[in-house]
Amino acid sequence: MQPVEEMLKNIRGFIKAKGYFLTGPRYDVAKALAETPTHLDADEIHQLLGKVRIDASTVYRVLNLFCKLRICRKIVVDNGPAQYELSERFMVHHHHLICKHCGKVINFDEFDLLESELSKLEKLFRRKYKFVVADHKLEFEGVCMTCGPVSRNKPSL
Ligand SMILES: [Zn+2]
Ligand SMILES: [Zn+2]
Ligand SMILES: [Zn+2]
Repeated sequence: MQPVEEMLKNIRGFIKAKGYFLTGPRYDVAKALAETPTHLDADEIHQLLGKVRIDASTVYRVLNLFCKLRICRKIVVDNGPAQYELSERFMVHHHHLICKHCGKVINFDEFDLLESELSKLEKLFRRKYKFVVADHKLEFEGVCMTCGPVSRNKPSL
């Protein structure tokens, strides 16, 4: 994981190259995302920033801009608010485990198991479908520890 200052510097350079400035609220939202190793929904970002300084609609506006510019990535879950994280330009490549009950998103990075197989697949796509893969996203849906029958005796799926 890069230091937060480094990530913010990269974001500042990137957004400037796109013709935008890292204004106060944009900086604040970028910082909240950079400081969080997992994912945040818009409310959580708003809470982190303190409600007085920035209103909820500004948070949404900034997040929409960040998604449009691909500074961040939006993760849509079934039973919960959309969650956000910095795009892989600014953080490490990883995949997601998503809980179907509570919408919790867990990062995983078992690269040794996955990436070499995926790159074989991507080569095959190139040969067979003349399709060049630029990126991949992988999500597994299931039940997290909090919602699962193991720890809480809640009904499973
Ligand atoms: Zn859960
Ligand atoms: Zn993630
Ligand atoms: Zn991958």
